[in-house]
Amino acid sequence: MANEYKYDRVLLKLSGEALAGDLGYGIDPKVVDDLAEEIAEIVHDGVQLAVVIGGGNIFRGLAGSAEGMDRAQADYIGMLATVMNALALQDAFERHGIFSRVQSAINMQEVSEPYIRRRAVRHLEKGRVVILAAGTGNPYFTTDTTAALRACELDVDCVMKATKVDGVYDADPKTHPDAHRFDRISYMDVLSRGLNVMDATATSLCMDNDVPMIVFDLTKPGNIKAALQGEPVGTVVE
Ligand code: UDP
Repeated sequence: MANEYKYDRVLLKLSGEALAGDLGYGIDPKVVDDLAEEIAEIVHDGVQLAVVIGGGNIFRGLAGSAEGMDRAQADYIGMLATVMNALALQDAFERHGIFSRVQSAINMQEVSEPYIRRRAVRHLEKGRVVILAAGTGNPYFTTDTTAALRACELDVDCVMKATKVDGVYDADPKTHPDAHRFDRISYMDVLSRGLNVMDATATSLCMDNDVPMIVFDLTKPGNIKAALQGEPVGTVVE
């Protein structure tokens, strides 16, 4: 393990839209490939990495239920969408020489292992990236909450929350140019100010279990490594 890194074991939360790139929908193979290249560097340096992948680039349960679908049924569709993203990520990881395993919270034995905490930890110890698919396996949750839950279970040093902005602001920087960016902020402040970082369930789970989170801009190349090296590229929530 190169000691240039501040964290040994981390969980990266990627939203589905991170895989869609400018397409805004579905999976852009070039975007996934670039991401894998960046991740390969830190994994080859010895950082243990678990990835929770979202599905919003394909389907969101809430959007389905807004159109009249049964919410739970729509959420299961959303969870299945995350499995497609997980397989796309695994494909790109392999092309970049990263060993990985997909573990799904909904059993899908032809394409993934079931999520088994101890096995996931063993993979991490062996330097394999564990891609966690199908969220928590339960409707009415999100992949942000999955990230918080798995971060606690897998005893990671921090959650890396990839976004399109360079941290947490007190207002949307796109519509409020004078919005203030925090270098650090407490989970309690995030909750009481209603800041749009993660949903409240995920935020309180991280807070209750002392899991720090770095919110950073994934669209800037090199930021994953910089954040892991403790450079101030985002906001630390703790
Ligand atoms: N989902 C769910 N339970 C979970 C995780 C996800 O039901 O534990 C469903 C939910 O419908 C959600 C969809 O999967 O809208 C995709 O996940 P999410 O919206 O969190 O993806 P992201 O916004 O990160 O792309």
